[in-house]
Amino acid sequence: RPALVLFRNDLRLEDNPALNAARLSGCPLVCVYIYETEGDAAFRRPGSASRWWLHHSLESLSSSIRSKGGSLILRSGRLVSAVESLIAETGACEVHASRRYDPAGLEADTELADALRDGDIPFYRHEGFLLHEPSSVRTSSNRFYRVFSPFARKVIPLVQDARPETCDLPFHFASPPESDKLGDYAFLPSEPDWASGFSPQWQPGEEGAQTTLQHFLSNGLSDYTVGRDHPGKYGTSRLSAHLAFGEISPRQVWHGVETAAPRNPGRGVTTFQRELIFREFAWHLLTNLPQMAWSNIDSRFDRFPWQEDANDPSLIDWQKGLTGYPIVDAGMRELWQTGWMHNRVRMIVASFLTKHLMVHWKRGEEWFYDTLVDADPANNAFNWQWTAGSGADAAPFFRIFAPVTQGRRFDADGRYVRAFVPEIAALPDKFLHAPWEAPDDVLSAANVKLGVDYPRPLVDHAAARQRALDAFKGLKDD
Ligand code: FAD
Repeated sequence: RPALVLFRNDLRLEDNPALNAARLSGCPLVCVYIYETEGDAAFRRPGSASRWWLHHSLESLSSSIRSKGGSLILRSGRLVSAVESLIAETGACEVHASRRYDPAGLEADTELADALRDGDIPFYRHEGFLLHEPSSVRTSSNRFYRVFSPFARKVIPLVQDARPETCDLPFHFASPPESDKLGDYAFLPSEPDWASGFSPQWQPGEEGAQTTLQHFLSNGLSDYTVGRDHPGKYGTSRLSAHLAFGEISPRQVWHGVETAAPRNPGRGVTTFQRELIFREFAWHLLTNLPQMAWSNIDSRFDRFPWQEDANDPSLIDWQKGLTGYPIVDAGMRELWQTGWMHNRVRMIVASFLTKHLMVHWKRGEEWFYDTLVDADPANNAFNWQWTAGSGADAAPFFRIFAPVTQGRRFDADGRYVRAFVPEIAALPDKFLHAPWEAPDDVLSAANVKLGVDYPRPLVDHAAARQRALDAFKGLKDD
């Protein structure tokens, strides 16, 4: 009798513990992807950009499975109903899947485990999405970690020797049940095709993930410590979406970096591995504090006078990249055009939204969730709360990113702003990050009419900063 393998955030064949265990069971395989369309209150469908990625990633996985002689079966609906139907159709005797840690995924998997237990079908959940098991790491007082540095000190020795798992057994497939057609899920935009800028940037799928890793190991790792802060350079790995969809495992990345370490003697290796540990930390927090996805970890911020209206005009200007601050606008347009934004700029735009505009971080989190190809419920909520100041181990609220200073420091040659805000590209470097400071003759030489071709600043930096600090002071005084 066959074994069902449920692919979810592990859309790869290599180093896939759930798939390997099913192969080791000796049962013929039925490989399935279930597009879950219902769940508990915390359930969220993938955002629009993630659906674009998912479409291509499933195509790629499906073709890899075909090359081994099998096929990927697609189903949709509520997890438990879809699996029960598949068991009835195939006579499957066991189910394997990689473990999930988001509140809705956990809930759906618990519901499935209960239903399968009633039918005496084992449901095996395997590690593979993270380097560590979030429930297994505890402080000396048996609590979960709320502070990153001690967490990293504890976890790094545990994962230091992480290695991908290989499985040399041949693939053996059961005769496949009916499959939905991927195109019927309508994951790709049609009119307008807002994702036309994505394809030149990304190659979703396992092969693309490996190519991206190799490119980074050869070109970015040695200079990562410095290069990662400059959005105009290709200084980071760009592996985030591949990791979010599990097209590459964190073990493969970690081990790849370890193997490349002798060729990269600087601090790049440890700095990069620390970023991977940030991903672990975000998931550690979400597992232990599921409400982090929707409410302030620091409850003082429940009283903060956030602007919450989803139709707030300043929120819409921010989304469209029309705030009048070039580094903010470049970031928001990079996001819209490519489905990704550089980390330094994510921090700048998030600080701008939550502090300069005092819009609730939830509105920013939702926009990112919909528009990022790497949207990830733990990393996204964790980083939004970190920037807003309401999170565990968050940046202090009074640290407010000054967009002009940030732009001048990290995009000194203006390459990033010029790429995404072409209407001011002809301004000299000196005024590129603050066009309103340019004298009239400089503006007219660059063909820029402020307020016409490019907006004047939505808020004055100093006044907005003071307003946010006063609101924060109000929290402390209460
Ligand atoms: P690299 O610098 O090459 O880092 C390698 C990997 O480490 C990343 O792929 C990612 O998995 C992990 N990583 C790096 N930085 C962080 C971090 N600060 N927190 C957690 N993990 C990290 N990352 C997401 O994957 N999904 C999100 O939805 C997401 N939302 C964010 C929202 C905000 C407001 C901010 C400030 C950051 C967010 N990040 C998110 C974290 C970070 O910006 C991205 O992981 C990074 O920019 C991805 O590019 P990269 O793969 O080239 O990163």
